[in-house]
Order: sequence, then structure tokens, then C-alpha cells
Amino acid sequence: MIIVMKPGASRESIDHVMEKIEKIGLMAHPIFGTRRTVIAAIGDKHGRSLGDFEALPGVERVVPILAPYKMASLEVHEERSIVKVDGFSFGGTKIGVIAGPCTVEDEATTIETAKFVKSAGAIALRGGAFKPRTNPYSFQGLEEEGLKYLAAARDATGLAVVTEVISASHVDLVARYADVLQIGARNMQNFLLLQAVGEQPKPVLLKRGMSATIDELLFAAEYILSRGNQNVIICERGIRTFEDHTRNTLSIATVPALRERTHLPVIVDPSHATGHSSLVPPTARAAIAAGADGLLVEVHPRPEEALVDGAQSLDFPAFQTMMKGLARIALAVDRSM
Ligand code: PEP
Ligand code: MN
Repeated sequence: MIIVMKPGASRESIDHVMEKIEKIGLMAHPIFGTRRTVIAAIGDKHGRSLGDFEALPGVERVVPILAPYKMASLEVHEERSIVKVDGFSFGGTKIGVIAGPCTVEDEATTIETAKFVKSAGAIALRGGAFKPRTNPYSFQGLEEEGLKYLAAARDATGLAVVTEVISASHVDLVARYADVLQIGARNMQNFLLLQAVGEQPKPVLLKRGMSATIDELLFAAEYILSRGNQNVIICERGIRTFEDHTRNTLSIATVPALRERTHLPVIVDPSHATGHSSLVPPTARAAIAAGADGLLVEVHPRPEEALVDGAQSLDFPAFQTMMKGLARIALAVDRSM
């Protein structure tokens, strides 16, 4: 349930409600809005009398919550969340673009790419140092060496660094270098990993599993939020279907459907969604038009030489052209780049 406090309710009355919630074995999560505070009471206790809470000082009303994911739901948290990353943000009026290679290859290419994507308007650099590969014999990433190259690229450009963490035991290591921790599609339901990133403060970019429903995606977000980390960005990256002309099937409708259900920022990865560089700019435009708060895009200076995912990587001119076109789409939906 949600306890909606009166506007201007005192800190004392908020603390009192939270104590009462905890006394009956539920978790109390206050959400401090600009006008009023609401307190989410979370847990598995059904049939509690809502009236008991309505009588407490400072309480305006008590609302039973229907959404099974409480902290992620728009029903509980009516103001859209803005996730701040190093002076930039996801979820406001500005569209945030994260761009870079699929995988970190060497220091020079990483810095070259960072400089270019920054000049074209990206706010963050992506690149995997730990790669979750389907084939165990495929390149698995440069690991800590790759993280160091990403950090060097951040020093050279001021871009925030977004990189994937594939195991709970690597969270401390990756968080030492990254500004945003990415949870990949293959790990969307790695619950110990979700809990581990929920227990540290860096923002998390959570990608949709390739066969996950929207509810499963939001439950995965809830794992992170319920461990204390409120900075979660959701990423639609396409799902598996019978269609084989594209690497995955990008569900554009998922963007507004997610935004109807959650306050968390929603971004789209048109690279993994389509698998073909020619399809990336049109689907990126569609994503922004549909209300996405940002994009995650693979860019490589020489896609034909990329170690991983060259076919879906944009080269520099293509990325620049795409960014210019996106600015016009953003304007049409009252956003800016
Ligand atoms: C990635 O973005 O680097 C990646 C591996 O994508 P996904 O987890 O969506 O397959
Ligand atoms: Mn990739």
C-alpha cells in the first residue's frame, strides 16, 4: 500500500508512519516529492487494515497498490525519475545518447571513438570490457585492462562511462571505473547480480531480457530499487521472435507501454535490436518519436574491423548524420538533444 502524506506533513509524522509500517513487518520506502511525501509499504503481508494508517497524524489517504512492482511503478511514484550521471541526466526533457563500440578493443580506438561521439553530441561512452558471449570461444573482453581504457577515454573527453557487469563478484571492480553499470539482456534475471548492483550507488542501465515480458523487466528493476539504488534506467533492446531479417524484433510500443507503468527513464538500443547498421538510424528516430528518453548505440571508427558486432555498428559519418536527424525528431516531441 501507499500512504500519501498531506502537503507539508512534518518530518516527525513521516517518521512515525514509517515506524508503524516497520512494526507490522513491512518495509517503508519514503518518496520525497516536491509537493508531498508518499511512503510505500512493501512486503508480503496481506489483509492489513488500511484504516489504522489513515488515523495517523499527517496522513491524507491510504491507497492499496495494484501494480505488483511497487517501487518501479508510476502508480506509486507519480513524478518521473531523472537519473543523474556525472552532470548529465536521463529522463528530463533532454534526450541522452550513449555511444561507443560493442567491446573495448584498445586504448587508441576507445579514445578516438569517445572524442568523436562527444563531438557529435553523445553524453556517455559505451563499451564492454566484460562481454557475455554466446560462444565460449568468442572474444570475452579485455576485462580490467578494458576498464582502464574506458577511464582514460573519460579523462580525455569528460564523457560518462557505461559498461557491463556480468557477475555479482565483479560489481566492486567495475564500479571503480564505470559511471553507469550495465546489466545485459542475458543477465536480466540474474537476481544475485541485480541485488548486488542495487546495494551500490552507481546508476544502473538494465536491459530487457531477450524473452522477457514488460512485467518481468519491471520486476528485475524492482530487485535493484528494493535494495536501495533508485537510479535505474530501463533499456528496450528487442526480443526474440520468428523474424530473422533483424537480429531481434524491436518493440517500439514497449516504450510508451513502459512509460505508462514506470517512472524510470526508458531508453532504446537500436543496434542490438536490429543487427544492421542501415536500420539503426530509422529505428532510433522511431524510438525518440515514441517517447524514449535516450539511446544506446554502437559506433566504431572502422566497423569492418570491429572485433564484435561490426555489422550493426555505425561509422563516424553515419553517427553524425543520425544525431542531426534525431535533433529534429526530438523537437517535434517537445524534447531536445
Ligand atoms: C551490449 O549492449 O553490449 C549487449 C551485450 O547487449 P545485450 O545485453 O542487449 O545483448
Ligand atoms: Mn554488441
